[in-house]
Parts: sequence; C-alpha cells; structure tokens
Amino acid sequence: MSKPYLREEHEIFRSAFRKFLDQHAAPFFEEWEQAKQVPKSFWKKAGEQGFLCPWVEEKYGGSEADFGYSVVITEELDKIGAGIGGLGLHNDIVMPYIGEFGSEEQKQRWLPKAVSGDMISAIAMTEPGTGSDLAAIKTTARREGDHYILNGEKTFITNGYSADFVIVVCKTDSYAQPAYKGVSLIVVEEGAPGFKRGKKLRKVGQHANDTSELIFEDAIIPKENLIGEEGMGFYYLMQKLQQERLMLAIGSITASKRMLEITLDYVKQRTAFGKPISKFQNTQFKLAEMATNIKIGETFVDQLIVDHMANKNIVNEVSMAKWWMTDLAKNTATECMQLHGGYGYMEEYEIARRYRDVAVGSIYAGTNEIMKTIIAKNMGL
Ligand SMILES: Cc1cc2nc3c(=O)[nH]c(=O)nc-3n(C[C@H](O)[C@H](O)[C@H](O)COP(=O)(O)OP(=O)(O)OC[C@H]3O[C@@H](n4cnc5c(N)ncnc54)[C@H](O)[C@@H]3O)c2cc1C
Repeated sequence: MSKPYLREEHEIFRSAFRKFLDQHAAPFFEEWEQAKQVPKSFWKKAGEQGFLCPWVEEKYGGSEADFGYSVVITEELDKIGAGIGGLGLHNDIVMPYIGEFGSEEQKQRWLPKAVSGDMISAIAMTEPGTGSDLAAIKTTARREGDHYILNGEKTFITNGYSADFVIVVCKTDSYAQPAYKGVSLIVVEEGAPGFKRGKKLRKVGQHANDTSELIFEDAIIPKENLIGEEGMGFYYLMQKLQQERLMLAIGSITASKRMLEITLDYVKQRTAFGKPISKFQNTQFKLAEMATNIKIGETFVDQLIVDHMANKNIVNEVSMAKWWMTDLAKNTATECMQLHGGYGYMEEYEIARRYRDVAVGSIYAGTNEIMKTIIAKNMGL
C-alpha cells in the first residue's frame, strides 16, 4: 500500500536500514534478549550510518529528515522486535525535547552526541509511588547557587541502565497550585554526584530493552541542565506526548502485521484431520477479521501521521489510536498464538515472544484507561 507521507527517498532509506538491521541486529537479537541490553557498540554503528535522530538539524550533525523517516525507522525496528525499541525512544521521544525546548548551548552540547550514538538517552517520569498521576511526583530539585540538588526515585525507565543522559521530570516547586505548575525537566548526566542506578528490572517481555530504577540522593546538577523554564515541564510533556503515543500506535500496527504474516505461514503448513488448518472456516474467519482490523487501524494511523506532519493538534485522535492499536496488537497476539496451538507457547516460535512483547502496550506511554479519560474529557464528560 502506498503511503501519502512516503516518497522514493524514504523507501531507499528503508532498504538501507533493513540491510543494516539484517547484518547488525537480527543475528544478535537473541543474545541481546538474554543480556537484557542492546550493546553500546550497536548504538554507535547506528549513529555512524545516520540512523539516530535523523531529524536533527545539519548544524548539529543530523540530516534534517522529515517525520516519515522516523516512521520508517520505527517500523523496521519493530519488525525485528520491540526489544530494540529503546532506539526509537531515544530518536523520537527523548531527544525532541532538546530539539524543541533546549537552549542553543544545550543543542550544541547534546544533539551531536545523540546523533553519533556516543550518548544514549532516557526520560524518567514514573516513580515507585506514581505513574498515571504525573503531577503527584515526589522527586524534587532544589536550587542552590549554580546547581540543582535532586532527590527522589524513578522506576521502569527504558534505557535507564545504559543511558548517559536522562531527562528527569521533577518538582522545582512542591507547593505550586495546581501541582503541575511546579513540574520542571532537568537533564541528569552519567557521572553526576549522587546519581545512582538500580539493577536492570526483570520484565515479562521486551527483554533487550534495558529498564531500570534511577536514584537521586542529593544529586548535584548544573543549573544549565534545566530544559526551558522552571514550572513549564508539564506543558512541554503534554506537547511531546502526542508524538510518543503516535509512535506506539505505529509500532503496534507493525507488530500486528508481523504476527499475521507468521501465522498465515504457519496455518498453511500445519495439518490436522488430514488437511492444512488454513482450510478450516474458523481459521479463515479469524485471519480475515485480523486482516480487516489491521487495515482499519493502519488507515487511521496513516491519516494521523499526515496530520502530525502538518503540525495539527491531534491529541484526542492520537489518544484514540494509542488505546485502539495497542489493544489490536494484544488481541492479534492472542488469536495468533491460539492458531499456533501448543507450538505458539514455545519459545522457539516468534509468536511467543511477540505475545509477551505487546502486552505492555496498553500500560506504558499513558495507560489505555488514561487515554479514554482524555477522550471523555474532550467529549465534555
Ligand atoms: C516496560 C516498561 C517501560 C516503561 N518505560 C518508561 C520510561 O521510559 N519512562 C517513564 O517515565 N515511565 C516508563 N514506564 C512507566 C509507565 O509509563 C507507567 O507504568 C504507566 O504510566 C502507568 O503508571 P503506573 O505503573 O504507576 O500505574 P498506575 O498509575 O498505578 O495505574 C494502575 C492502574 O490504575 C489505572 N488508573 C490510574 N488512574 C486512573 C484513572 N484516573 N482512571 C482510570 N483508571 C486509572 C491505570 O490505568 C492502571 O490500570 C514504563 C513501564 C513499563 C512497564
């Protein structure tokens, strides 16, 4: 299907990126899942080839590529597996905060390293005591002379173990009313005094994505690491969450298509009662339903990509897409595993990993319930 936002250059870029992943990611992916981490050497190789933050302006080392390239990268990463999604997070979720709200000095300091793969980034919002209710975070940043003193704990942070650069969502004013007006974004770099990491967390799926706790005990951070203005953090987050949720919707469609593809192959080969299981009407109906839902979802997401590239405010529609596409991926995984029979539950079969990997889609980047509260609010409820 031709996509309205893709040109021939995007497809050439896709072929190059796929070739790169076939050579440098696919053969090692299993190893990375075991190690619970994508090695830094892979990030460096991706940077050298121009696959990190291609949207960054040329003067900071990037290619000034449009959002269509980000879509291509997300799709190709998800074809390998959600476990290398940390790269997409770095490219299109974390570093855009610097691209959009960072000062000139911050852009010069961090963007070239983000592009070259010398710096891995993360964003830390969630805390042990609060996730959905972001304005209730407890991590504080107190100004003392030329520094901020950070105290608090974050958890479930993707890339947290390997990150050299973390955007920490914290309170510079714990008494602000309403509470969200006290939220700021401060960058904590590897080596900052008082910044520690917990161990890599053991997850149900997406094993190659390292996920960690981060601890700040009187961490000393230069005042120059504040992004934008104090008290504006919540506003910046709301601006950028549209893209984060859209990326997740795109990844969910890609994963659903892959699950359908491997299941189509499987049902043609597996026989029962003397014929391929693809010949049973139930199998055909299930696969036809999945193909229909994926096509409907993809059509909606394609339109949102076009609108996002036109800088339209589509927070409401992206909230719809986030919950619907992540549920689609979970339902597709369940149906595809069922059609694989017992083999679907075996680790040798890709559907088993996909089933585990897509489960978290309805939880992170704002839970699906939170997406529905946004939609309901916009309905005047
Ligand atoms: C693998 C993984 C990677 C992650 N990566 C990151 C990361 O890089 N950075 C980061 O900051 N965070 C990250 N997270 C955290 C994630 O964003 C949070 O887990 C998520 O926002 C939910 O917060 P919570 O876990 O505290 O759940 P809670 O907020 O405690 O929610 C628990 C349940 O209550 C429901 N609920 C809460 N409030 C409402 C409401 N108002 N109405 C209806 N239902 C409600 C929720 O929908 C959910 O079902 C990650 C999580 C995982 C599992």
